[in-house]
Amino acid sequence: MPLYEYRCPVCDDTFEARRPMAEASDPIDCPQGHVGSRRLLSVFASVGASSGSSAPAPAAPGRPAGGGCCGGMCGC
Ligand SMILES: [Zn+2]
Repeated sequence: MPLYEYRCPVCDDTFEARRPMAEASDPIDCPQGHVGSRRLLSVFASVGASSGSSAPAPAAPGRPAGGGCCGGMCGC
């Protein structure tokens, strides 16, 4: 019998229950006795395998911006 995971809307508790597949989507009582726990959809555990492909390219300095005297035509 497959194992399903449910969440109680009252106490916000998650628990697992073995049920026949035909009753998997039916409401179930939580361990505290609340009614109406719904089955959680397939939970994919985030393993944290982040493929970091977003390395920001450094901005190429085209020309020295700024108010440097000796670089421009300020005439000093
Ligand atoms: Zn509950």
